[in-house]
Amino acid sequence: MWKRVEKGKVIYYTLPEWSAHGAQVIMSTRAGGVSKAPYDQLNLGLHVGDASEAVIANRRLLLAANRWREEDFVSAQQVHGNRVLYVGAPDRGCGFYDYESAIKDTDGLFTAEQGVLIATFYADCLPLALFHPTLKLLGLAHAGWQGTYRNIAAALIGAMQAKHDFDPQELWAATGAAIGPCCYQVDADFYQRFLKRYSEAALWFSAAEEGKYYFDNEKANVALLQQAGVKKENISVLGLCTACHDDLFFSYRKGAGKTGRHGLWGALI
Ligand SMILES: [Zn+2]
Repeated sequence: MWKRVEKGKVIYYTLPEWSAHGAQVIMSTRAGGVSKAPYDQLNLGLHVGDASEAVIANRRLLLAANRWREEDFVSAQQVHGNRVLYVGAPDRGCGFYDYESAIKDTDGLFTAEQGVLIATFYADCLPLALFHPTLKLLGLAHAGWQGTYRNIAAALIGAMQAKHDFDPQELWAATGAAIGPCCYQVDADFYQRFLKRYSEAALWFSAAEEGKYYFDNEKANVALLQQAGVKKENISVLGLCTACHDDLFFSYRKGAGKTGRHGLWGALI
């Protein structure tokens, strides 16, 4: 279960049960940083038009709150695909000070090494974390609708299994804050596309005005995780809508594309 933590003005969510078993994972909020509007306050994204110095200062605030080190940080240039990559000690430092040095074209990162901090970024897309508590494998993935359409949840599980074989029933999973079905209106083409791709997809939509639907990306990913073998009782859902709570999270839709990024960061401890 997610737990809200406040350290000074910085607010984030963490998974105490995961920490007790060796994985420290945090879902940040926009509270407590130094960025100015429209990136206020704790923007962690270097690629959104904010001042780099502010982003780096914000990242350091989050590191300090978790006793993490910037030299251990590994991030990727996320492209709404489903490529997942193993990262270890040699990858440390990628993307902390500049976006160009982040790993290219990758939306999922996983590690089996202590002291490697994997970092992913969001504004409405669904943050997804997977942890194998005995094999000590930790993975994070960025699931926007395109990632969901390409089933990045299953791609991450498959990549982790290729590293160390295991039964997905043994995995723990968590989803962070994302735009909810209350605020995520899509058109009929979008709806039809998902119906063609997934037989159960109708369950992930509700009717809106004529020819429009509301998409529940969290529900879709919980279903895809279960389809891949993850047990429902092992999935922790934060269940907060980024657009409804745009005082606490960044929302790409609510901010009309001009906003910051919160993070899902994690490391084996
Ligand atoms: Zn909402």
